Amino acid sequence: MIDMQGVYKTYPNGVTALNGLDVKIEQGEFVYVVGPSGAGKSTFTKLIYREEKPTKGTVNVIDLDMASLKQRSVPKLRRQIGVVYQDFRLLPTLTVYENVAFALEVIEENPKNIRRRVMDVLDQVRLKNKARFLPDELSGGEQQRVSIARAIVNYPKILIADEPTGNLDPDTSWEIMHILEEINETGTTILMATHSQEIVNTIRKRVIAIEDGMVVRDEARGEYGYEY
Ligand code: ADP
Ligand code: ADP
Repeated sequence: MIDMQGVYKTYPNGVTALNGLDVKIEQGEFVYVVGPSGAGKSTFTKLIYREEKPTKGTVNVIDLDMASLKQRSVPKLRRQIGVVYQDFRLLPTLTVYENVAFALEVIEENPKNIRRRVMDVLDQVRLKNKARFLPDELSGGEQQRVSIARAIVNYPKILIADEPTGNLDPDTSWEIMHILEEINETGTTILMATHSQEIVNTIRKRVIAIEDGMVVRDEARGEYGYEY
């Protein structure tokens, strides 16, 4: 599903964010990505959805070679990858329903299918009863659930969550984790960058630790391994 070998990324300002990274992730895995700030975690995830290109090395995602992927094929790749951010990034003037439907409308699904799919996915994140609400009428946890619904509405093969619980209280964070686990159980590969020692050490999954742009640890059912 994701195969990176000997990957280097140096930004135009000369900062090297990835320094010979090797990673292989199979379909259906749930992987935590941990490591200190500035270690290269976000850069790693950005290579997956082609927000950034590698300077050197091979990046294969869903059998597509990111180096030779044409610009016009990027939207097709992105439809197979859902992304959830720490700060939700919902469109503030659109309702919950519209925020989720938006992703389907851009690919010209027929209206009846859109309606069914949006309500199904809102049901999955337990927000069917808030379809008409605006984002700022929701709690943080609810906003994150909307952003998860939006991310999975196209049945992506990969879901990338960049510190999805970073702005949430503990109870709400567990709720988000259970939803992510349910999504994973449907076969979606999940990569979650996190600084939550408690979550990683409680809901055990594969742990990939990145430091100075390299994988320094890769364990099935691993631990968080840092003191913060
Ligand atoms: P993490 O997600 O682990 O905090 P990042 O991948 O965001 O790490 O950053 C790795 C390094 O690359 C850091 O030194 C960061 O400042 C730098 N960096 C990240 N994005 C950019 C960018 N767009 N331009 C220049 N430097 C960047
Ligand atoms: P949490 O502490 O879990 O983040 P909140 O206390 O913010 O939750 O919200 C609790 C409930 O009140 C939620 O169901 C949310 O939808 C509702 N709510 C919060 N703020 C508003 C608002 N400004 N308008 C309408 N409903 C709101």
